[in-house]
Amino acid sequence: MKIDRKFNELSKSEYFYFIDRHGDYSDFNTLGLYRSICENDNLDLADRLEVRNYANQFFGKTFEFLQVKDPRTYFELTTLGEELTVADERQVWNEIRKNQERILSDKKIKHRNFGDHSKHNCGHPGCPFDGMMIRQDSWLTEMHIVFNSDRNKTGVKAKSERLKKERKNQKWLRGEM
Ligand SMILES: [Zn+2]
Repeated sequence: MKIDRKFNELSKSEYFYFIDRHGDYSDFNTLGLYRSICENDNLDLADRLEVRNYANQFFGKTFEFLQVKDPRTYFELTTLGEELTVADERQVWNEIRKNQERILSDKKIKHRNFGDHSKHNCGHPGCPFDGMMIRQDSWLTEMHIVFNSDRNKTGVKAKSERLKKERKNQKWLRGEM
């Protein structure tokens, strides 16, 4: 069977329905599921948290591996609803970097690069992504700006403004705007 729908268009109850029966659907994509949680406009914050926590009961290992595969989505999902300062954000990224190292060494991946990921080394002093395995996406550039210029402001407003802008960019890239 196929779901044949986009995750980011599902309602909360549909998420639960498909998660419960994920084995029956050949096009069930766990990464796609996680990526959709923050993008789905049918969900409010409480719903997102519920769907995330429910998914983690089934796909906890995949979720952990997101730190390597898609650290940004992992970051957004783990910090959902939390009001973080820039310092807090740095701390979270720092943890993600450490976990990446652990996960990669557990999997005996020793390369500096894998897939489209490579070790970040931009030379910005104090860059929170230094040494992280990461894709060279445009969001990184924006994060650099935040970490370099907003050090003294409270991060919350900056973050929400940034996310809004990023979503817009993504929509634009996908041709939806
Ligand atoms: Zn950097």
